[in-house]
Amino acid sequence: MRFLSTLRGRLIVSHLAAVFVGVVAIVLIAGPLTQRFFVDHVDGMMGDSTMMGGTGDSVMVELQSSLLDSFRSALFIALLISAVTAVVASVYASRRIAQPIERMSDAARKLARGEYDERVPVPEEIELATLAQDINTLAASLASTEERRLQLINEVAHELRTPLATIEGYMEGLLDGVFEPTDEVFGATAREAARLKRLASDLSTLSRAEEGALELASDRIDLAQIAKEAAEALMPLFMEKYIALTIDDGDPLIVLGDRDRLTQVFTNILGNAITYTGQGGSVGVRMERDGSRATVTVSDTGKGLTGDDLLRVFDRFHRVDPNLPGGTGVGLTVARNLVRRHGGDIVAFSDGPGTGSRFVVSLPLAG
Ligand code: ADP
Repeated sequence: MRFLSTLRGRLIVSHLAAVFVGVVAIVLIAGPLTQRFFVDHVDGMMGDSTMMGGTGDSVMVELQSSLLDSFRSALFIALLISAVTAVVASVYASRRIAQPIERMSDAARKLARGEYDERVPVPEEIELATLAQDINTLAASLASTEERRLQLINEVAHELRTPLATIEGYMEGLLDGVFEPTDEVFGATAREAARLKRLASDLSTLSRAEEGALELASDRIDLAQIAKEAAEALMPLFMEKYIALTIDDGDPLIVLGDRDRLTQVFTNILGNAITYTGQGGSVGVRMERDGSRATVTVSDTGKGLTGDDLLRVFDRFHRVDPNLPGGTGVGLTVARNLVRRHGGDIVAFSDGPGTGSRFVVSLPLAG
């Protein structure tokens, strides 16, 4: 019965049905009509031959020819009726098939014009139903991409506004003589400009990562060594804040991935651990094998995170304390995107504010 729900099946069946209707019409109509015409002919002939006194042979010839005439007339009428029936049936069948296709091409044109709310009804025929579902899925995905694009533009505009307003405020203050041209004023302006620069660079990485346009290498690399090197590179910052760094490494953890991008991930997580941990705190980096996965855990004794923040720290532009200088709220979004594109994930843990945090990066081990 599945055959009957396919477009091909329905086309074959509708053609066969048209032929069948034609044949049945011919059989049903031609027989009785022939008989009727023939009887009329014979009646007419009987009258004429009685009048004209024809012989048996000539009556036979007349009979044969009138039988043929009756059959021809009956066949003509039967063919006419069956042709009309077949045409009506074909028009109906082709309409049923053409209508959904026309609707779908109409919908495709609307989608091309940016009308992403457009959806098409799903017809019964399996091939057309699949096509209609694909068009609806495409429309939904275009609508959500457009929504995200608009949201990103809004968020970026919002994020740019604060540092720009700060810089503008300082500049106007200097011009009006409200501020003295001190190191403090220039320092604050330079910090905001640096934040804008970092935001631009983070956003460019984020958009390329989200588009999937970021080319990632797939080399056999040791994740443990990458995490260790990233931590060691940040040593001056650890020392500046008197934060103790402990590295607990074991066997190499070989994964397939991009060395530079994974270094960027650990630099971000470790950089956050330094930023959000007070002077004299400590940060630990532990590398281990967990079944078929390599995991690197970065734990700190810093600010910690609430349950709500644990869910939101990976959201674009989410910063627990937006007034803290320097951050853009994009670093963890990019980090998670990069790790996920490697087939892994990053998860954040904390027992609450003031209890420190743990960020666990896990990636599949190379076979
Ligand atoms: P940012 O540039 O603000 O650090 P991220 O995306 O790296 O952006 O982090 C988002 C937010 O998550 C930070 O603003 C901070 O509030 C919070 N966060 C990240 N790491 C930690 C951590 N180790 N301890 C406490 N809070 C953190």
